[in-house]
Amino acid sequence: MAPENPEKKSGWPGSGLAKGLAVTLRTMTKRSVTEQYPEVQPELAPRTRGVIGLFEENCTVCMLCARECPDWCIYIDSHKETVPPAAPGGRERSRNVLDRFAIDFSLCMYCGICIEVCPFDALFWSPEFEYAETDIHNLTHERDKLREWMWTVPEPPALDPAAEEPKEIAASRKAADKLAAQEAAERQAAQQAAEEAARNTAQEQEGEA
Ligand code: SF4
Ligand code: SF4
Repeated sequence: MAPENPEKKSGWPGSGLAKGLAVTLRTMTKRSVTEQYPEVQPELAPRTRGVIGLFEENCTVCMLCARECPDWCIYIDSHKETVPPAAPGGRERSRNVLDRFAIDFSLCMYCGICIEVCPFDALFWSPEFEYAETDIHNLTHERDKLREWMWTVPEPPALDPAAEEPKEIAASRKAADKLAAQEAAERQAAQQAAEEAARNTAQEQEGEA
């Protein structure tokens, strides 16, 4: 079937041309939106996927991110260390110590799977994007650089006031409350001991007099 003539549809000849010119005029009078980068930094969306930051204190070297990465571009090396028992009479335990954590950004496709699967919140998106290199080999970034990028990760959005307190925050608040109560009890015991010692000294001095 032959395509329908748009001018036939609108009803008068030359209407398509007039519409086109109207669009051109409207666009010509609009303010230019050219970004003046690099003189002016662009305003990025809050969830921009620029680069991946590593918070290595949270990393337990579980290797999940490296296993799930579709491009196999996460390189992790570690060794095992024996940790003394937490309580007397307990068993010694072994833990993984991170030796190397690197991401090859020439292979990374910014899918975010590694960040999603990390069970310990050790990987985050940073909006940082100025890491172009002239040599592709320099796009493999090691843990120091990934850690540096960690400090450019924006704060997460505030929770909805009606939202349930997240488990992690509740657990850390509980631990902080417990520690504060323990410190207060220790301070009180020390104060009582000092008062007791002062009373004993005063009694001894009275006895000698
Ligand atoms: S974003 Fe995707 S491709 Fe890049 S390192 Fe993570 S899992 Fe691999
Ligand atoms: S998934 Fe998370 S905790 Fe496990 S190795 Fe990767 S970054 Fe570390």
